Amino acid sequence: MTHLNRLSSLLLVTLFVILTHPLLAVEIRYTLKMAKPQNHYFQVEMKVEQLSQKTALVKLPVWAPGSYLVREFSKNLNQVKVYSLSGSPLKVNKKTKNAWEIELNGQKGFVLSYEVYAFELSVRTSFLDETHGFVSGPSMFMYLDGQKELGGVLVVQSHPSFKKISTGLAPKTTADKQANQQAYTFDNYDQLIDCPLEIGNQEEFEFTAAGVKHTVAMYGEANYDQELLKKDMAKIVEEETKIVGVNPNKNYVFIVHNVVGGDGGLEHANSTVLSVDRWTYEGNNYINFLNLVAHEYFHLWNVKRIRPFVLGPFDYDQEVYTTLLWVMEGFTSYYDEIILRRCGFYSQDEMLRKVQSAINYVEGSVGSRVQPVAHASFDAWIKAYRPNENSSNTTMTYYSRGLVLAAVFDAMIVTNSKGTKGLDHVMQDLYNTYYVGKNRGFTDDEFKKTTEKFVGRDLTDFFDRYINGSEVIPYNDYLEPLGIEVVDVGGIKPVFGATVADEGGKVIVKTVRSGSSAEEAGISVNDEIIACMQYRVDKSMVDGIMNSAAINDEFELTLSRDKLIRKVTVKISGQKKVSYIFNNKATDVSLPLYNYWLR
Ligand SMILES: [Zn+2]
Repeated sequence: MTHLNRLSSLLLVTLFVILTHPLLAVEIRYTLKMAKPQNHYFQVEMKVEQLSQKTALVKLPVWAPGSYLVREFSKNLNQVKVYSLSGSPLKVNKKTKNAWEIELNGQKGFVLSYEVYAFELSVRTSFLDETHGFVSGPSMFMYLDGQKELGGVLVVQSHPSFKKISTGLAPKTTADKQANQQAYTFDNYDQLIDCPLEIGNQEEFEFTAAGVKHTVAMYGEANYDQELLKKDMAKIVEEETKIVGVNPNKNYVFIVHNVVGGDGGLEHANSTVLSVDRWTYEGNNYINFLNLVAHEYFHLWNVKRIRPFVLGPFDYDQEVYTTLLWVMEGFTSYYDEIILRRCGFYSQDEMLRKVQSAINYVEGSVGSRVQPVAHASFDAWIKAYRPNENSSNTTMTYYSRGLVLAAVFDAMIVTNSKGTKGLDHVMQDLYNTYYVGKNRGFTDDEFKKTTEKFVGRDLTDFFDRYINGSEVIPYNDYLEPLGIEVVDVGGIKPVFGATVADEGGKVIVKTVRSGSSAEEAGISVNDEIIACMQYRVDKSMVDGIMNSAAINDEFELTLSRDKLIRKVTVKISGQKKVSYIFNNKATDVSLPLYNYWLR
């Protein structure tokens, strides 16, 4: 092929691409309404123009990023109707549980409308009543299959009683106060649904930290001290920004739901939703709120940008599998503690006790010997997010084991670098190499290699044993260079092995530990414990008897299972109990390392 031929064929290809991809000009326009908040329905309209195909497939995600469970959001979606741009009805066929095919019939666009029932107030679902509306994008907005890269506009027409909208989306123009309407732009579908919206009369306040404007939107009665929150949240932002060295946002929004109980948080690229108990700002609970702030905020780096390959862009049709949630959630759990130390909310010793208790929790759980942390991550969809009565015997939490692994890696790097580097440098490297440099997530192997670079040695054996395997980590090997002697003082302890709950005055068995005295005796979950020897018991008596029992003690228990009475004899056996204590053995060599680690 000559040079000229190549040039003309290149022009032809370019022309062909332009002619066959008129969709590049397509813009999607969503309108969100809430006509009657008291019926809990949002009305959504999706308008797409300049299409050239015969049919269009629209879909709703089955899961929400950051929460690894198939939630089947389309179960709440009703009244799907489609019209041409001029208003004549078009035929729509349901193709799968979350997909609808629109017959365009020569039309160049369509207007799709539907209703979403929103009555589950959590950080990952949508909610609407007379007091406010909360929109979690994956449960609300459909997308054009194969075209998630398209940007567009979202117009929110709020109910007249709602005066404010808090979201990380960029406003398009100034709000039309008369119509109670506000338009926002989005670059692509992933961004649209990564920006939840709080719509109502929430209290908003602002603070600037690390050069970023932060807005805090408070829904619900609560006893917070606004000035204290501004000061403490700013401290967390400043310290976390130092870890990677860059804060990639200009604006960031904290949407806080102050409710009874509270169910945690969900991270987004430039916002987060926190669901907290309305009394969390008082006394000892306040530090838990700061932990949650530190956790979700750190996710703007770790998982939203520093991420495994499959965690963005997302496949919303099904589970996406990664063995690295222990890095995403576990490292974030480590940082939500160590950041509070760096902010001065904890002393060095308090931080050390946090690591000690995390290790005792992890190594003391039966599931830690059954499920490697990499498997716990991969199976989050069917295990961590779908726990049952036997979960503690078969699973371990990648949050806690990941926290422990982060502490161990941090210690290894501090030792290797003689107190000049730590886990922060791994995070920086991952951010710069993969997010900034390659604009993608990393593979398991790329993560391991980056960590090896800072630990200064091959980690294949370490990964095989403690990450892809479930062996006990030899903590002393890694903490002793920092002047911490790890001693197991647990020994053999009497263990009954069943937990019970009071249900309407009945003592009901909730869990039975594998290999325990309770299991050996034939006690099962859901059994009612009626009597011990000849005494009728309540929950506190069962707990009291079992906690004070010695090895080889025997009890006859009267149970009811399926309303049939049975008697069993429990012989209390001894089981190995893990209980590590950390002894401080600081030397001139180890003290600087210790001080760098827990700075
Ligand atoms: Zn998290």
